[in-house]
Amino acid sequence: MPNYTREDFLKLDENDPLAAFRDEFELPEDLIYLDGNSLGAMPKSAKARALDVVEREWGQDLITSWNKNGWFHLTEKLGNKIASLIGAASGEVLACDATGLNLYKLLSMALDLREGRKVIVMEGSNFPTDNYMTQGLIKQRGQGHEIRFAEIDQIIDAITEDVAVVSLTQVHYKTGHLLDMKAITEKAHAVGALVIWDLCHSAGALPIDLNKCDVDFAVGCGYKYLNGGPGAPAFIFVAKRHQGTAAQPLTGWWSHAAPFAFERDYRPSGTIWQSLTGTQPILSLSVLECGLDVMMRADMADLRQKSITLCDYFIELVESECGKYGFELATPRNGEARGSQVSFRHDYGYAIMQALIADKVIGDFRAPNIVRFGFTPLYVRYVDVWDAVARLKKIMKYDLWKNAKYNQLTAVT
Ligand SMILES: *Cc1c(COP(=O)(O)O)cnc(C)c1O
Repeated sequence: MPNYTREDFLKLDENDPLAAFRDEFELPEDLIYLDGNSLGAMPKSAKARALDVVEREWGQDLITSWNKNGWFHLTEKLGNKIASLIGAASGEVLACDATGLNLYKLLSMALDLREGRKVIVMEGSNFPTDNYMTQGLIKQRGQGHEIRFAEIDQIIDAITEDVAVVSLTQVHYKTGHLLDMKAITEKAHAVGALVIWDLCHSAGALPIDLNKCDVDFAVGCGYKYLNGGPGAPAFIFVAKRHQGTAAQPLTGWWSHAAPFAFERDYRPSGTIWQSLTGTQPILSLSVLECGLDVMMRADMADLRQKSITLCDYFIELVESECGKYGFELATPRNGEARGSQVSFRHDYGYAIMQALIADKVIGDFRAPNIVRFGFTPLYVRYVDVWDAVARLKKIMKYDLWKNAKYNQLTAVT
């Protein structure tokens, strides 16, 4: 590695204003974890919190916990914390359900608000669940809606007067490409359409200002950069101006104006609570809060700066040390144009990633040929970049990835 030494990277860690955060996460000593974009690491505080919820709140306080320990309002309390991370106001966000489910609710609301228009603009290579949920909803409604799939650089032109909703993911899950939320939202509004932004790969990874961009609706994931734990509840954002104007279709009792009045007929809440359906997973919400509390103490500008620098170094080192082994950059080279991940295309990406994981560098593989590395600035160190590339180089130089055991497909890649 011609221009740097490992000591240079240790030096960067010494001067890193975020360095102390690493110690707040449980991470095996010799592991380099570059998959926080798929499952964030565990905040150490989550362990004690989980135990407390189980032993004291559930075990001792039982049903009284809904009031006494704040269970009933947890989804709203966490929503307000998430709101502060994504440029939303208090009362505009709830932590609840799964991303796909929240997307379904919002899309249905948005289509109701744009009756008569039939086109939904999406990006075809988006994470599949966004497409699948939309296709399922269209079929169910049976009103002749259609999806207009646009390539990333044709999205603006695809937003025409017949569009009801523009539904996009801000940071592409495979390539890390960052879309221009402000420009796209402006174009959508200019033709009278609404926007839904999926923040799965951007919430907690970079500064987001939903209200400054005048966004209508948004969803996002709790278990990626927010470090909320496996299968953590997702979140849902409804701009104040849309609350009470349209009903989401899953009108369960928690979305009712007075859940504990137990009335026979449905009356919508009219607030952000209307986006709920029913009882929420308290254990999962409780540990999600631990991830949010750590994140809220970090400066988002510091996070973004470190994220860009980590990714820049990783790209530079992989290209200089492993370029001749056939890696092709799939991520925008310009740091401002990407999220917090770096992806390369390689024909043997799957086996290479398996060999890397065996050598304690965890990233992941996305079919057909993408090796993906997430850089979570809260706990990834600069020296990890150096060490990860050194191990990758060894695997390529000595053809270690050709071992048959790295070429057997597993269920989760
Ligand atoms: C991770 C991710 C999801 C996850 O959806 P779930 O319903 O939580 O399984 C959805 N959309 C995008 C863009 C994602 O990256």
